[in-house]
Amino acid sequence: MKLAERVNRVSPSLTLAIDAKAKAMKAEGLDICSFSAGEPDFDTPAHIVHAAKAALDQGKTRYGPAAGEPKLRSAIAQKLQRDNQLCYSPENILVTNGGKQSLFNLMMAMIEPGDEVLIPAPYWVSYPEMVKLAGGTPIIIPTTVDARFKVTPEQLREAVTPQTRMLIFNSPSNPTGMVYTPDEVRAIAEVVVEQNIWVVADEIYEKILYDGAQHLSIGAVGPEIFERTVVSSGFAKTYAMTGWRVGFLAGPVPVIKAATRLQSHSTSNVCTFAQYGAIAAYESSQDCVAEMRSAFAERRAFMLEQFNQMKGLTCPSPEGAFYMFPSIAEVGMASMEFCDTLLETYNVAAVPGIAFGADSCIRLSYATDMTTIQEGLNRLATLLKDLAS
Ligand SMILES: *Cc1c(COP(=O)(O)O)cnc(C)c1O
Repeated sequence: MKLAERVNRVSPSLTLAIDAKAKAMKAEGLDICSFSAGEPDFDTPAHIVHAAKAALDQGKTRYGPAAGEPKLRSAIAQKLQRDNQLCYSPENILVTNGGKQSLFNLMMAMIEPGDEVLIPAPYWVSYPEMVKLAGGTPIIIPTTVDARFKVTPEQLREAVTPQTRMLIFNSPSNPTGMVYTPDEVRAIAEVVVEQNIWVVADEIYEKILYDGAQHLSIGAVGPEIFERTVVSSGFAKTYAMTGWRVGFLAGPVPVIKAATRLQSHSTSNVCTFAQYGAIAAYESSQDCVAEMRSAFAERRAFMLEQFNQMKGLTCPSPEGAFYMFPSIAEVGMASMEFCDTLLETYNVAAVPGIAFGADSCIRLSYATDMTTIQEGLNRLATLLKDLAS
């Protein structure tokens, strides 16, 4: 069958392959400990659910403006001013079907054949694929465990060519959990301005921070960088709203208008009553966020302590998100083979680092209960012992 060439340009998801295998094993009745979740294991807080139910009762069931409900655009602009010191008004905001669609719309609006997009690795799986779908060329910049998986200003400078259009900057990071310090963010911003490129700040994990880590929005560094920044974020990770599909893009009006025009011909507005849940998320108490964060913090501490006792793993302590990204370099196995063995013989599901452009690492999500974490780590320790003997 003849399919469009663009389909061949994108790779099938490696993460889904492991996930599908783990689910099939579970369905066969095997006791699988899964660390593969990319979403919070909590239910959406009740007040957010109530707000969406109330919106349904009030008949918020029709088409709305493609760019989003005015009330939500305004709540997002206020949040960005209040929490991030980013001076946006509602016209700078596009409400999207999640952070994923906001990035997709942005790539479609800004990238064309010949454009290069800088992507530090390890990266979120969809970044390079979205760039390719838009016809651009992803330029992967590898980082090391020793550098805590952070790209340096020198590396960025070296990677820039006359074709470079933008940098994708994700802090806190999925998959590594690393958070750039305010000073590091300022140094990256300096290169972006000096090289006259754009930066897309994926800040979807900004509220999930540990050990006093601070999040600085790169666009808040100064007026010059602000003009070259587009923020992509959403409600999924902070408020356990992954299935709701609400996110946003914030940036200069011409960029937002272009992305809105594309969205108006693809998905139109985001589910109207879901947007009312999102309004409640921003306009109500943030205690629910603190509660989820403290549950994550407890699991993270436990995992770090266990990792320190395991031989063969090196894991810089993550300061954000809900992932650990240990290096398995000492074991001397590729990440896919390691994760296959871990799943097939020890019944533990983890995501091979190769999916994120880092074949010597694996990703373990702690968005799962303590019992699973304890049992899963015991089994991981057994695999490492078996491999060493
Ligand atoms: C989960 C995630 C997103 C987008 O999530 P949505 O569910 O589409 O809002 C974007 N970037 C990163 C790094 C993520 O982990």
